[in-house]
Order: sequence, then C-alpha cells, then structure tokens
Amino acid sequence: MRKRITIFGATGSIGENTVDLLTRQGGAEVYDVVALSGGRNVARLAEQAKALRASLAVTAFPECYEDLKAALAGSGVEAAAGPQALIEAADRPSDWIMSAIVGAAGLVPGMRALRHGTTLALANKESLVTAGPLLMATARANGARILPVDSEHSAVFQALAGEDIDAVERIIITASGGAFRDWPQEDIARATPEQASSHPNWAMGQRITVDSASMFNKALELIETKEYFGIDPGRIEAVVHPESLVHALVGFRDGGIMAHVGPPDMRHAIGYALNWPNRAELPVARLDLAEIGRLTFRPACETRWPALRLARLVMAQGGLSGAVFNGAKERALDAFLDRRIGFLQMNDVVEASLEVLSDHIVHSDTVMDLDVILHTDHLAREAAEGVISRLH
Ligand code: NDP
Ligand code: MG
Repeated sequence: MRKRITIFGATGSIGENTVDLLTRQGGAEVYDVVALSGGRNVARLAEQAKALRASLAVTAFPECYEDLKAALAGSGVEAAAGPQALIEAADRPSDWIMSAIVGAAGLVPGMRALRHGTTLALANKESLVTAGPLLMATARANGARILPVDSEHSAVFQALAGEDIDAVERIIITASGGAFRDWPQEDIARATPEQASSHPNWAMGQRITVDSASMFNKALELIETKEYFGIDPGRIEAVVHPESLVHALVGFRDGGIMAHVGPPDMRHAIGYALNWPNRAELPVARLDLAEIGRLTFRPACETRWPALRLARLVMAQGGLSGAVFNGAKERALDAFLDRRIGFLQMNDVVEASLEVLSDHIVHSDTVMDLDVILHTDHLAREAAEGVISRLH
C-alpha cells in the first residue's frame, strides 16, 4: 500500500530535508502526500506541494492565505490557513507525519495526529519538553508511535534496538558546543545575533542554531531524553564533542557502551524515521575514520552553560516546569534576536521566569491536560517579558 505522508513545517530546515528524501525515494510516484504545512514562505510551500502532488497545503498564518492560494492556482492543491487548518490537516488520515514546526506551536498539531494513532516522526523537541508526559500518554492510549528525529535521540533509539531499557545505566548526549565553544566567557556576553546564528557543524534553522550556542538546545534535549525514554535524570549526561560525529552513547549495566557515529546530516535521522523499521540507502556522506583520525570529548560545564543547570532543575521538578522553561526560553530568544537583551541574559530570563511561576509549577506529572499546558506556555512568555522589560 502507498504510504500516506504529512509534513508539518515543510518549508523549514528539517522539512526541506524531509521533502528531499521523499523526492529521492520516488516522490508522488511512491507516496500519497496528504498535506504540507509552512509559515510565511508560501512560494516555497506551493512549489513543494505541486512537486509532491500534495492534496493540501496549509500556511500557519491567515494573512498569508491569499498569497498561497494564488501560488497554487490551477494546480489542484487545496489551500488553507491558520491554526484550525493545521488541526484539520492533522485529522486527515495519514500513515507518517513529520512534526517539524519550530517552537511550542508544533505541540497542538502533533498531539492531534497522535490521537489518530498515526506514526509521528518528532523533530519538534519543544512539544516533548512542554508536554512530555501528556504526549507520551496520548501516544500510548491511541496506539500511536513516536519516532525521534532529533539526531541524538534517533541515535539513542538506534543504540537501544533489541536491548532491555532496564539494562541501561546511562545515556550520554553529545553537544557540539555551538558557535562559542572556544570563546572566552567575557566575549560571549557581548555576542550578537549574527555571531550566534552560525553553527560550526550543522546547517539548521536560525532559532535552534542560536539555542546550540547558548546550550539551550542541549538543555531541551536532556529533558527530551527524560521524557521520551523514561530514564531517571541522574542517568542522563551531556558531553561536549566538537566534531559532531558521535551523536549519542548508551551505557549498559555490564559496562558496555554503544555509540552512534555518523556525519552531521539530519537526513540520516529523518531517513531512519521515514523508513523504520527498515533501513534504506540514504544520501549521507560515508565517514573515513582513518582520515578523521581522532574524536575528542570535553566536559559540558554547567557554570559555563547555565542552561544545562536549569535543565537539571526542570527534570527534577517535572510537572509544568518544562512548559515554563520552554515558553520563557522562546521569549528570551526573541528578545535576544531583537537585541533587547544580551546573549547570557537569556539564562537569567529563563531562571527568573521559573522562579516567578514556582507556585504555578505543579510538582507532579499527572495533572497535565492540553489547556493547562497552553495556559502555562502563555504565563511563561508573560513572566519572561516582565523580566526582560526590567532588564532592558
Ligand atoms: P526552521 O525555522 O528552519 O523551520 C520551521 C518551520 O516551521 C518552517 O516550515 C516555518 O515556516 C514553520 N513555522 C514557523 N513558525 C510557525 C508557527 N508559528 N506555526 C506554524 N509553523 C511555523 O526550523 P528547523 O527545521 O530548524 O526546526 C524545526 C524543528 O525541528 C524545531 O523544533 C527544532 O528544534 C527541531 N530540530 C531541528 C534540527 C535541524 O537540524 N534543523 C535538528 C533537530 C531538531 P516558514 O519558514 O514558511 O515561515
Ligand atoms: Mg539535536
């Protein structure tokens, strides 16, 4: 049977890589593309939808609807816009849905897809950080499968194939260290958005690139590891690995460690999720280990990167603290990109927001529903804005 595919965030970095793989694997000849979503880049969304002969193209923003409709005129692809249209796209029967919207905006469509028992390829780490217990419970209750697309989590997933999760002693997530890994701390405080937006190893969207430089990306990934694999936070470690070739390692109780090694190319993790449980030939570079020569590792220092310390706090608190952490981080990132706060002040904003909302954060994973989480996300952004205006 032809596999039915939906891509949320098709015009982004993960989305483009997903479209590239689908195209290489036969495109519309092989797959039924149910829906593609994008944001403001409606010209590209229309191009993708036409090339893959999608049934539906959705822009998240109502003000972009007319442009999308015009770009699709005569193509036979239906156009739609707005948050409700994203939900309706998630309601259309599909076998494999890529969740690659950036930010907490990815949560609602992903949750909706899980309710239909669909396989969700999850790049949108923010939804696990914001609503991990709810997302995992929704998948379980509906017989849906979540396949990790974040490279580290795909690596862990692959290292765990055929293993007993109870035999896992530790999960080690690697971090490139981002744009400022070799900068003196004094200089980092003055880093500009342009400097933070270039990654030494990976080509990604701007927001995750800046999050890599601040280590908020790694902080999100530690929380993501706890939520997805259900591992005790004390067993989750981060290590800096500047070459970005080892994506994660799993240590077992007999002392053995399985490392996942590969080039820094997201098409591996996306292609793995697309073809799972099979492995297809993928267009990623093959490593020449003798040429690479050595792989290096350094401690991921929580003083240098306070985001890692905050992730520990969030993992210990559980409950709604992940939603506060992510919402405040997104607002702080906006403020940094708008040059309202300095690079290191993003940490202060998130820490202060967690404090401001400490009474709201319920220290239990059992009290979550989607409305409470979305409300918490809103409160977190408000709290962060309050802190930012005081810093400003
Ligand atoms: P991009 O910024 O490149 O793309 C984001 C996508 O979401 C685009 O299609 C964009 O549309 C769309 N979008 C933006 N804002 C909204 C909104 N408010 N509502 C709905 N759609 C929106 O991001 P990435 O591809 O880099 O990242 C996507 C997700 O994958 C993130 O959660 C990220 O953390 C995760 N991830 C990314 C990796 C990477 O290599 N890039 C690696 C691991 C995880 P448009 O551009 O048309 O405006
Ligand atoms: Mg990652």
